[in-house]
Amino acid sequence: MTLQDYRNDIQRCSRCSLCKWLPLAQIKSWRFANACPSMVWGNFHAYSAGGRMIAALSLLDGRIDYTDKLVEIVYQCQMGGACDVSCKVNRDLDPLEVMLELRAKCVEDGQVLPAHMVMIESLRSDDNVLGELKAERGKWAEDLDVKDITKEKADVLYFAGCRYSFDQDLWKIARDTIALLKMAGVDVGISGKEEACCGGRAFEIGYRGEFTKYAEHSIETWNAADVRTVVTSCSDCYGAFKFHYPRIGKKMNFEVLHITEYLDRLIKEGRLKPTKKVPLQVTYHDPCHLGRLSEPYIPWEGVERKVLGQVVIKDPPKEYRRGTNGIYEPPRDVLRSIQGLELVEMERIKEYAWCCGAGGGVMEAYPEFAQWTADERIEEAKATGAEALVTACPWCERSFRDALEHNGAKIKLYDIVELLLEAL
Ligand code: SF4
Ligand code: SF4
Repeated sequence: MTLQDYRNDIQRCSRCSLCKWLPLAQIKSWRFANACPSMVWGNFHAYSAGGRMIAALSLLDGRIDYTDKLVEIVYQCQMGGACDVSCKVNRDLDPLEVMLELRAKCVEDGQVLPAHMVMIESLRSDDNVLGELKAERGKWAEDLDVKDITKEKADVLYFAGCRYSFDQDLWKIARDTIALLKMAGVDVGISGKEEACCGGRAFEIGYRGEFTKYAEHSIETWNAADVRTVVTSCSDCYGAFKFHYPRIGKKMNFEVLHITEYLDRLIKEGRLKPTKKVPLQVTYHDPCHLGRLSEPYIPWEGVERKVLGQVVIKDPPKEYRRGTNGIYEPPRDVLRSIQGLELVEMERIKEYAWCCGAGGGVMEAYPEFAQWTADERIEEAKATGAEALVTACPWCERSFRDALEHNGAKIKLYDIVELLLEAL
């Protein structure tokens, strides 16, 4: 698809502004009623999904040209898709797809951000988006007794992703994950320094060529190695496998599970038994890429026809993703399996969750905006009275750690894996 393919959708945007807010029935307080970080931070309609729809149409029609402001409007957005969920409460439109295509058009037209070019250069030279050396990938597991699937077969491939591979502060979580899998008797392997970026971030910032290269690489490598199950604890990678990989049309002969799904399965099968008490009141942050953005991609092929001389319909009708089929219960079930631990919910949860701030290349290009977005989520977590904020994604973890360091908020932060390990 291209931006042009969404022209009719864009023209059906009624400028109702519903994409800025949670759906009415989901609002519990005025304080946490916003859905769109970009809109609140930018404080102008152009920074909402509806605003970007108008900008996209104006570009297509040649009524506006690129300016620094327009480029900022396009990229100052985490692509977390809360707008998409809210818009679809009222009408079948795909504002998130439009914004993804708008970014691809910007890249095609050479309208890119220096911070994003740094990420892409790092991909081209070292297969990661963090500016690190390829040779250092896999160091997080150096002294772990874990199989190397490039040399021997394993039932499960653990995919660490760029953030866990290179963010040393987070290595413990990846190592804890391997420990948990081994305790459950899982035959697990990793690809060490042969692992490469999933390509998801490249897709989000509009670099389709790089995305396709990495998606093809992953699928072809794992199909050839006869990998049956890929488990990742990075929600961004998981979202890429589910939402973006199907777009390139290559058959994936393996199942992909997020670590929370897999751990939930292992607990329910009795292979992990959390028997130790962890007396803690926690609240859980749904990572966008594990929630609404992990809802599988639904391909549509058909034609758009005009009926009654004006209304454009899709033939056959298109099925829409509405965010409801993300991974919401497995992480909560893992938490509920821990004795002594109490889960209290924030106001914006599941498909209505507020973003952590890190996504869509915002952490790299607009760090202040990313930090404010995380600050907002921490405020919401604190409002529950919980002692700890728990998440299941290294990008959220990084974003919250940075925010806590700067705002000094008194709330503990955990990855779900750390709590489960404590309970065993
Ligand atoms: S994108 Fe959807 S919710 Fe936003 S203004 Fe347009 S129609 Fe309304
Ligand atoms: S993806 Fe997130 S930040 Fe971007 S317009 Fe939608 S709700 Fe706002």
